[in-house]
Amino acid sequence: MLRVAVIGSGPGGCYTAQSLVEQDPSVRVDVLDRLPCPYGLVRYGVAPDHEKIKSLQSTLRGVLEHERVRFLGGVQVGGPGGLPAARLRELYHAVVYCVGAAADRRLGIPGEELPGSWSATEFVSWYSAHPDAADACFLRDVHSAVVIGMGNVAVDVARMLVRGAAELSPTDMPEAALAALSGSGVADVRMAGRRGPSQARFTTKELRELGALPDTDVLVDPGDLALDPACADPSALPAAQRRNVEVLRDWAAAPARGGARRIRLSFFLRPVEVLGENGRVAGVRFERTVPDGRGGVLGAGRYEDVAAQLVLRSVGYRGVPLEGLPFDAATGTVPHREGRVLRDGETAPGEYVAGWIKRGPTGVIGTNRPCAKETVGSLLADAPRLLRKPVPPDAVAALAAEGVEPVDWAGWQAIERAEADLGASLGRSVVKLPDWETLRAAARDDGR
Ligand code: NAP
Repeated sequence: MLRVAVIGSGPGGCYTAQSLVEQDPSVRVDVLDRLPCPYGLVRYGVAPDHEKIKSLQSTLRGVLEHERVRFLGGVQVGGPGGLPAARLRELYHAVVYCVGAAADRRLGIPGEELPGSWSATEFVSWYSAHPDAADACFLRDVHSAVVIGMGNVAVDVARMLVRGAAELSPTDMPEAALAALSGSGVADVRMAGRRGPSQARFTTKELRELGALPDTDVLVDPGDLALDPACADPSALPAAQRRNVEVLRDWAAAPARGGARRIRLSFFLRPVEVLGENGRVAGVRFERTVPDGRGGVLGAGRYEDVAAQLVLRSVGYRGVPLEGLPFDAATGTVPHREGRVLRDGETAPGEYVAGWIKRGPTGVIGTNRPCAKETVGSLLADAPRLLRKPVPPDAVAALAAEGVEPVDWAGWQAIERAEADLGASLGRSVVKLPDWETLRAAARDDGR
């Protein structure tokens, strides 16, 4: 019987586990996660007001509750005090790493580290109650914010910055974030993209949502559309970009409605410095850019300062090397062939990758399904060879002997109950527990 460890319980990990049990009637899968809570970015990255996408958790739950799948939370793989990759290989016939892309891309410009300049993921982690997130008083004395980047994460954080209490309190966001966001004085959010409107990375559904925010004007400079050659004839663009351009064009033509808050989308602005004053962020200096005729841009040598007390850098995620695994620093991924980890150009039997650590931080949640399927196809093709290696009958028992005590499914369910109880006590629905201590305490209180 094939025993497989899947590292990471986000969409990549869960779809891998699902594909394994669907395709092999006897395989046993342990899904390990560093956190005591499952679902990865679905729990800690999808915006709290995106309830429909969040509801995917019920699909992922079905996978983790499968009779041949076990969730083992709170188990760190690699790193100081973590379970070494080599030890995992002794415990299982195969290990599939689905660890995502845990870090942020850097801008590499002066002032990036000033207080008040954060990566969007730090901000997202805070309002999503990630236990590693610090409450950095992101919104104190902030009335203008700059969001750098034109992807879906940039749209998420811009939207969250202007949402009010009525829209946020039904979500599962932690109390402190709810209080800070709904009481914030943010009136102006400037989203800035270095290329043109036709090259923005957000999806149209997410873009349109900005236009539906209460008491908020969405502003686009018609000059940005005029500067982008592809906007002259959007019908020649791929459908996704064409729809984006159409939405942006409508906004550029619409008169401002006089809302209390504004989101301005500005294109052809390349950040060159985060400006500081009294040791804190005071704005961003941008260089104007122009299309280079090949899909990129050139600096125009003209500069523009945008005042802001908060800067959120939303320029994409980056994979992090895992101790004991090869890593391609240029792409932030583990080198692989059809999901099989490549060591010095040769496939490493028994080691696989799926999700963002395999293909980079792109695509929507559903993109992980075919990605996981490919990896599982490779793994199952290798199975006859993998099964020759003896492994202990139960990895959990072996780990317990080494002092590793995972949070099992009952522990996670106890966390869920504690979050429902917390919400009820606050007159809200489920409210997430935001720190390690309360999560661990709740997981121990599993009624056994
Ligand atoms: P993304 O889609 O890769 O967008 C990154 C943005 O940052 C782009 O506009 C990019 O511009 C810009 N950028 C990169 N380096 C830059 C630099 N040095 N200076 C200025 N701008 C720079 O990344 P993301 O928004 O983090 O999203 C990651 C993935 O998650 C995407 O696949 C996204 O669709 C997905 N996601 C989906 C949802 C949803 O479906 N609701 C929500 C959140 C995230 P260039 O194009 O010029 O490089």
